[in-house]
Amino acid sequence: MIQIAVVSGKGGTGKTILTASLATLLSQDKVLIDADVDAANLSLLLSPTDLKTQEFRGMDGAVIDTKSCIGCGICAEACVYDAIQKVGEIYEVVPYRCEGCGTCTIVCPEDAVSMKSRITGMIHYADTSAGPLLYGSLTPGSGNSGLLVHRLRQEAGLLHPDVPLVLIDGPPGIGCPLISTITGIQIAILVTEPSTSAQSDLQRLITLCRSFRVRMFLVINRSDVNQNITEDILQVAAENEILVLGLIPFDRTVLNATRQGVPVTRMSGAASEAIHEITQNLSQELDHI
Ligand code: SF4
Ligand code: SF4
Repeated sequence: MIQIAVVSGKGGTGKTILTASLATLLSQDKVLIDADVDAANLSLLLSPTDLKTQEFRGMDGAVIDTKSCIGCGICAEACVYDAIQKVGEIYEVVPYRCEGCGTCTIVCPEDAVSMKSRITGMIHYADTSAGPLLYGSLTPGSGNSGLLVHRLRQEAGLLHPDVPLVLIDGPPGIGCPLISTITGIQIAILVTEPSTSAQSDLQRLITLCRSFRVRMFLVINRSDVNQNITEDILQVAAENEILVLGLIPFDRTVLNATRQGVPVTRMSGAASEAIHEITQNLSQELDHI
């Protein structure tokens, strides 16, 4: 089984548009994962049929037994996340602020605080013409995004153990969900664009992927918007021995396809042509793995 994640150091680079196109063009049987659990939108381009949803329980959170609480306030003083507030004569936990550290359970003189499992999101199971799709949705304000990505990958492996390809639409940034996304995968397709912020994020992304021993390929989206920065990015790729799968020019068809909720490769245009070529280049590389 080959696991490929399409990742970017920042949002808005066209990562999901590329993932949706690869999902429909790559010939291998595959399972798809949308690891952007804060704003999953791969499903918007693949017209999925929802099969089921399941509660996701993240880390335990503190709960105060209001019958046992004597209102001393020791827990509120001890909570460095300011997650316990006074309500009348007693104290209550503000769930979205609680980081689950457990300090309040230790300091409470009345044993009135306990740690309880809590629902922090949902796991969605769907089917698309490109293959089964798993995606997550975190409850607003809750953490555990990295844990949810880990669960999505675990579920995909359990449900589809023999599938030859896992294609992951990665989260933006280089935080915890990205680390959960790239741990143990073979290939990361780095999607960037010619802007100074994207260039800076790309460097950090390369460093991270390298430390996880992930083979990297590069795609530059809207490459003709700033030719000078595109040249600089190509230089960075050469210095880091990263194969460039292709450049996608700016093309208004992308916007039309996104509005219609279809992969851009369903339409004709310069971006579609470039992505077909990128897919061919990727397929050739996969043949040698
Ligand atoms: S430390 Fe215990 S008894 Fe005191 S306010 Fe907190 S929960 Fe209530
Ligand atoms: S578990 Fe930690 S973060 Fe949560 S309320 Fe208790 S002290 Fe605060």
